[in-house]
Amino acid sequence: MAFTRATGKHRRPSRLTRKGANMAGVAALATTGVIGGLTSPALAADSDISADSAHAVQDTGLTQAIVIGDSLADQIAAQAEQQKRAAAKAEAARKAEAERKAEAKRKAEAKAKAEAEARAKKEREERAAKERAAREAERKRLGYTLPVAGSVVTTGYKTGGNLWSSGSHSGVDFRAASGSSVVAVGAGTVVEAGWGGAYGNNIVIRMNDGTYTQYGHLSSLGVSVGQTVASGQQIGLSGSTGNSTGPHLHFEARTSPEYGSDMDPVAYLRAHGVNV
Ligand SMILES: [Zn+2]
Repeated sequence: MAFTRATGKHRRPSRLTRKGANMAGVAALATTGVIGGLTSPALAADSDISADSAHAVQDTGLTQAIVIGDSLADQIAAQAEQQKRAAAKAEAARKAEAERKAEAKRKAEAKAKAEAEARAKKEREERAAKERAAREAERKRLGYTLPVAGSVVTTGYKTGGNLWSSGSHSGVDFRAASGSSVVAVGAGTVVEAGWGGAYGNNIVIRMNDGTYTQYGHLSSLGVSVGQTVASGQQIGLSGSTGNSTGPHLHFEARTSPEYGSDMDPVAYLRAHGVNV
């Protein structure tokens, strides 16, 4: 503690003593001749007041020092310490509250973001489902069909025998009475329509997906090269022209327009959604 007790030597002198001193001072000045004759009571009184005021200021300071000395100074210090602790506590509480609010804000934002993402995902899925449905409807509209309505396969693909020049069946035979309607199994462009040797009257169509289909032994042709055809559109009538033992439709699926690039026609039609 910086405060110290005042000692006896700082005690305020008695008024009588000071008065005596002042009077002595004035008397001394008078004797020097500087202010000779100015020993009026007024001056003495003024001097006395000035001196007294100076003492009073000094004494007041000392008096305070004495009083502060123990209890009040300790109280002030304790109060300051208490205020400091309270301020620190308030600051900590303020920080905790700010942190709590920031955390709540972060959580709310994360929740909003997750909800927005969920909504966007749902919308994307709904849009994708609609697009799938539209594609499916379009595929059905433009979809593949049997080359002869309601027909069945009578001779399978790769069936062996001496009937075929390659040694095995390069397509399938659909049952069809002479003059039955033969249709394009899907949309495409006619690339061949005419006599095809062993195939008799035959048609080759380049399908829109890049594959080829062939129709043989026809009794008549209904399309010409370069013509575009839709799925299910009639292209000719069935017959038994070429190397044939009786009326039927010989049907092939190929990767190119050339003989020998054949693939399984049943698998091909099934892959295009045809029930065969
Ligand atoms: Zn055949």
